Amino acid sequence: MIIRKSASELELMRTAGRITARALRMVGEAVAPGVTTAELDRLAEQVIRSAGAVPAFKGYHDFPATICASLNEQVVHGIPGPTVLREGDILSVDVGAIVDGYYGDSAMTFPVGEVAPDATALMDATRRALEAGIAACIPGMRLYDISAAIQRVAEEPGYGVVREYVGHGIGRAMHEEPQVPNFGPAGKGPTLAAGMVFAIEPMVNAGAPGVRALDDGWTVVTADGSLSAHFEHTVAVTESGPLVLTLE
Ligand code: MG
Ligand code: MG
Repeated sequence: MIIRKSASELELMRTAGRITARALRMVGEAVAPGVTTAELDRLAEQVIRSAGAVPAFKGYHDFPATICASLNEQVVHGIPGPTVLREGDILSVDVGAIVDGYYGDSAMTFPVGEVAPDATALMDATRRALEAGIAACIPGMRLYDISAAIQRVAEEPGYGVVREYVGHGIGRAMHEEPQVPNFGPAGKGPTLAAGMVFAIEPMVNAGAPGVRALDDGWTVVTADGSLSAHFEHTVAVTESGPLVLTLE
């Protein structure tokens, strides 16, 4: 069952989303050659806690940090640590915050200094795929209209859409029903209605869609070693159209 949120619940999710967005922006502004992912993690935690919110990922299934920091061929769930960012890297940062029990969840891939044109193109396409998915969050549309819109934009330049990890409903839990795949047939799935909230999050590989997990039990990398990008927003379906909750 897809839980529909009331106006007051959406208000709390908007607050959680705003804090999540601020943390992500400030991490993005701190991304530079020479910075470690642990430093970025501390910054995100500081921003979230100083706003009176709680980091959503820390302790979630024992994840040890506030952000996921996934570098280059890492797709998602990278653990922050002593890794030093270098000019030309791309870094996917995923962060979430909880306010009064309600969750925000957002991710973005950042360039570290100057990056190669193929990395920029991958990031641009993944961002555009997210925007296409968001645009389908309209009452009366079907769930896989979101999925198909994402897939069409991401695959058009020849990229691979990750299958094993998908978007999700979100609210009083980080992961609620339904799963929101980044691929699938338009016109299928549950009918969207006002009050539904989804974390929409294409993960797009420059090469093939396949992924594998590293021995740390968390970090997911592309199977072929190609670059990967990840963009995510928490989005409410409303009568007046898609409402992105994870904006400042
Ligand atoms: Mg996320
Ligand atoms: Mg998510």
